[in-house]
Amino acid sequence: MQGKEISVRGIAVSPGIAIGRAYVQQPREILAPNFLVAREKVEEEIERLHRGLERTRERIRESRSRLAGKIGEDHAAIFDAHLLILEDTKAIEDTEELIRTQLICAEFAFNRVIGRIIESFDTIGDSYLRERRADVEDVRRRVLHSMSGEAATTYGGISEESILVAEDLTPSDTVMLDRRFVLGVATDLGGRTSHAAILARSYGIPAVVGLEQLTEHVRHADEIIIDGNAGVVVVRPGEKTRSSYEEARQRFIELEESMLTLKDYPAITLDGRKIELSANVKRPQDAELALSKGAKGVGLYRTEWFFLTRDDLPGEEEQVRQYAEIVEAIAPEPVIFRALDIGGDKFASYLGAGKSELNPFLGWRGIRFLLTRRDILRTQLRAFLRASARGKVKIMFPMITGLEEVRASSGLLEEVKMELRGEERDFDEGVEVGIMIETPSAVAIADLLARETDFFSIGSNDLIQYTLAVDRSNARISYLYEPMHPSILRLIRNTVEAGHAHDIWVGMCGEIAGDPLYSVLLVGLGLDEISISAYMIPEVKRIIRGITYDEAKTLARKAMGLSTADEIRTLVASVMHERFPELVAADAREGVP
Ligand code: PEP
Ligand code: MG
Repeated sequence: MQGKEISVRGIAVSPGIAIGRAYVQQPREILAPNFLVAREKVEEEIERLHRGLERTRERIRESRSRLAGKIGEDHAAIFDAHLLILEDTKAIEDTEELIRTQLICAEFAFNRVIGRIIESFDTIGDSYLRERRADVEDVRRRVLHSMSGEAATTYGGISEESILVAEDLTPSDTVMLDRRFVLGVATDLGGRTSHAAILARSYGIPAVVGLEQLTEHVRHADEIIIDGNAGVVVVRPGEKTRSSYEEARQRFIELEESMLTLKDYPAITLDGRKIELSANVKRPQDAELALSKGAKGVGLYRTEWFFLTRDDLPGEEEQVRQYAEIVEAIAPEPVIFRALDIGGDKFASYLGAGKSELNPFLGWRGIRFLLTRRDILRTQLRAFLRASARGKVKIMFPMITGLEEVRASSGLLEEVKMELRGEERDFDEGVEVGIMIETPSAVAIADLLARETDFFSIGSNDLIQYTLAVDRSNARISYLYEPMHPSILRLIRNTVEAGHAHDIWVGMCGEIAGDPLYSVLLVGLGLDEISISAYMIPEVKRIIRGITYDEAKTLARKAMGLSTADEIRTLVASVMHERFPELVAADAREGVP
């Protein structure tokens, strides 16, 4: 409806609030020309295909080097993925074959082959890989542009401050965004791990994705608000809404600025309880961001990322290089390497676990996978230990349900140590070995597990899914995925008590640990360490530094006395609002003003 304020909820992927005029990007679907080729001209047509591909490669290389200077090697590397797709000999051979047998023009044949690849991405279970579909789409568009002689321009039109609204953003679109003009981003499609999301975060541009049909409700130059904290977009806001968001925006900016001043301070409560506040990472390059946000070490290195973004097993030397790089960058603080947690929704066809099972989350996953593929575990343990000579390393095993798994993995670790001693290789003999507490079974026997491990890290993402019997990736039942369920609070408290009774430290590395709304409660439940996305560190640190441990314990005690998730959430939100009225993210959770 014309002029009416509407608000749409999506997925918050990059925090902050932006207010401005919409720049609606129309989908730039390019139609591939479709003409027939005379039989005697087939070889010429194939040559034309190769010239088109080569021209595209040149343009990509040019964009790459231009951007590497502007935004750094790391992000420019997105174009390497594009170049790799263009090197796909199978796709090129299939295109040639189509030209030869069907006598169709190069663009049409290429479009058909790449279209099949794109379709096959839609059936992939793994969300990271599925989102790489955008890279292939991007390459398709570029090749078709190159062959039709047109330049694949992106967002040249944005020359004044705007909020970019699009159906979806390809990785190279996002890389091309001019930060001077793009105040915020809102897209119909996309998920948390899409490149658009990752890059928007790294640019500090507030962004909300997964807004479904937003583009249908927004017209060019409409006023629009992006709330990247709560995942809300307001189109054509009324006076009252705009002014409350303006205030929220101002508070957010002040909060961010004030929080960065805490970077070099410890996460310590007003009465002296110290919490190790560390970062969750997935590749060595993440160290820089973690340190810039004031992380005290790495509390969870998800090693599977490296395995999922390739199609063969990485060897020992390759792994040592990866692990040593981050260990050196983070030293003298520790890096906790989690052994490969493959299976569940993390599926790589060359490893076999996951996808084909009826219940992959209850299947061949984590430690179960590793103990049947000891070759993989052995190589990884050797690499962890060898990296330990370069700084401070801790090792953690995922998906533990029983003591046998702990003994079997620690036994293998001892064997590997013997081997390394025999080879006279250096490693830290005192490497701490811990486990993820992410199954209800592990909590139930936490006292037994604590006797044979050096630390616990609660994986709340899985602990919630296994306790409440709610598939964490099933959107249809996501309303049942409830971190504040009394059962979850009890499991956290039981784990902490069992760990402390046996003098080991207890941390948490699941997503709820990074939600500022829950910080006081989690401190009150007695956690010693909290490991979260680097971006959330300043806010969580500020909260920890603004409370007493006594206050936090009182909140936890009251919460533990309540019977339903609703009651607990209401209590926690009211305490947080009272104590941290300036807490923008928590405010925004209340919904659109
Ligand atoms: C968890 O389960 O909370 C966790 C941190 O591990 P992942 O999200 O990788 O399963
Ligand atoms: Mg887990």
